[in-house]
Amino acid sequence: MTDTKTTVAVPQTIDTSYYSPKDGGIITANTDDFLNWVRANSMWYMLFGLACCAIELMQTGGPRADLDRFGAVFRASPRQSDLIIVAGTLTYKMASRVKILYDQMPEPKYVISMGSCSNCGGLFEQGYSVCKGVDKIIPVDVYVPGCPPRPEALTEGVMKLQEIVKRERFLRRKTA
Ligand code: SF4
Repeated sequence: MTDTKTTVAVPQTIDTSYYSPKDGGIITANTDDFLNWVRANSMWYMLFGLACCAIELMQTGGPRADLDRFGAVFRASPRQSDLIIVAGTLTYKMASRVKILYDQMPEPKYVISMGSCSNCGGLFEQGYSVCKGVDKIIPVDVYVPGCPPRPEALTEGVMKLQEIVKRERFLRRKTA
C-alpha cells in the first residue's frame, strides 16, 4: 500500500519503479536514469551576460519567468555551475575569458548560446573584434535564436537541455 505523504513523483519517461513505505522511501532505478533525473532538475547556471541579451537573461531568472521552477538557479562561480549561458556579443578579447571559465567548471558541464550574437556574431558579424559564435571557443549544447530571445525562448532552451541530459549515459559520457 502506498503512503501518499511519502510518495516520490518520478517522471513516467524514466524507467523507474519505486516503493514508499510509511517510514521513508525506497527508490529502485537504473543508475543512469536516476542520476539524469536528479541532474536535469538541478541545473545550476553561471551567468555570462555580455550585451543586451543579458537583460533578457536576468528577466528569465526573475519572478515573472521564474526559471527556478525548473530547478535552474544562477551561481556566480564556475566551480558550482553545471551550465554556462553565454548571452550577448562575444568579442575576441572576452573569448579567452569564456574558455578559462568553461575549463574551471566541473564535468559534466553544458553550454547554452543565447541570441544571434552568441550564435554567430549576429548584427556584428562583420566586426573585426567580434567572435563569429561562441562555438568557435567552447562546445555548445543548445542554441537559442533571437535578437534578443524572449525569456520564454530561453526557458525552452533550458528544457531542451534537460531532455538531452535525461538521455545521457552518465557513466560513459564523452568529454569534449
Ligand atoms: S543578439 Fe541582439 S539583443 Fe542579443 S546581444 Fe546581440 S544585438 Fe543585443
